[in-house]
Amino acid sequence: MANKWVYTFKEGNMSMRNLLGGKGANLAEMTEIGLPVPQGFTITTEACTQYYEDGRKINDEIMAQAMEGVAWMEKENGKKFGDLENPLLVSVRSGARASMPGMMDTILNLGLNDDVVAAMIKGNPDPAFERFVYDSYRRFIQMFSDVVMEVGKKYFEQLIDKMKEEKGVQYDVDLTAADLKELAEQFKAEYKNQLGTDFPSDPVEQLKLAIEAVFRSWDNPRANVYRRDNDIPYSWGTAVNVMPMVFGNLNNESGTGVAFTRDPATGEKKLMGEFLKNAQGEDVVAGVRTPMPIAQMEQEFPEAYAEFIKVCETLENHYHDMQDMEFTVENKKLYMLQCRNGKRTAQAALKIACDLVDEGHKTEAEAVAMIDPRNLDTLLHPQFDAAALKAATPIGKGLGASPGAACGKIVFTADDAVEWAEKGEKVILVRLETSPEDITGMKSAEGILTVRGGMTSHAAVVARGMGECCVSGCGDIDMDEENKQFTLAGKTFK
Ligand code: ADP
Ligand code: MG
Repeated sequence: MANKWVYTFKEGNMSMRNLLGGKGANLAEMTEIGLPVPQGFTITTEACTQYYEDGRKINDEIMAQAMEGVAWMEKENGKKFGDLENPLLVSVRSGARASMPGMMDTILNLGLNDDVVAAMIKGNPDPAFERFVYDSYRRFIQMFSDVVMEVGKKYFEQLIDKMKEEKGVQYDVDLTAADLKELAEQFKAEYKNQLGTDFPSDPVEQLKLAIEAVFRSWDNPRANVYRRDNDIPYSWGTAVNVMPMVFGNLNNESGTGVAFTRDPATGEKKLMGEFLKNAQGEDVVAGVRTPMPIAQMEQEFPEAYAEFIKVCETLENHYHDMQDMEFTVENKKLYMLQCRNGKRTAQAALKIACDLVDEGHKTEAEAVAMIDPRNLDTLLHPQFDAAALKAATPIGKGLGASPGAACGKIVFTADDAVEWAEKGEKVILVRLETSPEDITGMKSAEGILTVRGGMTSHAAVVARGMGECCVSGCGDIDMDEENKQFTLAGKTFK
């Protein structure tokens, strides 16, 4: 029998993690237990291995099965890929056997082009809807260019900053439909300028290139560093998940969030997370605006919140462990986009393991096996002397994203952190926010301080995983990255 390279979410389950990757296996498992998951499919990790064997190409058989997956998805969702009447937009997401947050690539809003955009707007003349369509379009061009064609995202970020400055607005949500339309045009022009060809408008071509890019991202430098640090074999490969978009950026009845069923810093049994209205994907973790604490969702999105609480319970009872979840609300309706056993500090790991025994989720032997011996070490990490801490005058306040204490000279780039650490200096890496490219610098630093981002920001998640002290979201810092200095409490630090 020919190889089966593609599994719909209805064909998989959590025991198929090696073949479908963690994300794909859990999307299938959530589907099986009746949770609201947009229905798509997974291209297997074996297809990734095959891609490398074929000289970094997707062979026709894999692509043909992916297109069968698209046809299934179209039927399941009542929309058509590339259609002008009722277009289906998809995300193309990486997902290896072991969780590697932010290390590989994801593309959102795929399937858009000028014609689809025009048709969508014609079908719904509401100006807010037009804004949403262009917001999605400019995001897609930006992500596709960055991830698939490796045009650096800085070019697009510069264009956004310029647009915000010209319009005198602070946040992306303040840009109008016309601004975003103009941005999409500028992005396409930048693409052509950088690559010499037009932005690909054929959705099937977009999809093929995106799948290849995800396979390729398995071999990118930051993924390789992460794998080395976490003992993940190169031979595993990543799966690719293709699924219908749900739109947290549709309007103010929509948004996107991340949450943990227990506090990943202390282990306390209480829902912890963040939600950002009128936002998509990485907006929450990238710190483009400051998200609301998950509890506040209860007032603003009561139906979705109530459903989410139920989902959390279902997931914990099913997986018998603390869950880390990504979700989106589109027009008040909740959709689950990811779940996994959450990363946690050593302190939290101990508390959660004990609590899970008390709650009847785990036997004592199972609980002991949950503790990674390497992490116990972090329980012994530096702490402030309690009396000294009490006597000190703080110069600023942020979120205790990852516990511990650290001191050192401040540096402003990941490269400086690496360079100074190699010279034997202790350094604290200070950033507006961190991104996956900063990972080597974060490792070299004693501690991390960020201006933006919350408890689920990239810096927070990665620092907790490393057992490194991190304070995030210290919003009072007035940052001057260019001159490598910041001002806080009336003092300038260089
Ligand atoms: P990572 O592995 O880095 O977390 P993901 O594949 O989970 O990357 O994608 C990042 C984010 O993009 C998700 O947390 C989610 O917010 C958003 N996203 C992915 N797929 C979809 C989708 N189909 N609809 C809406 N948002 C999506
Ligand atoms: Mg994710």
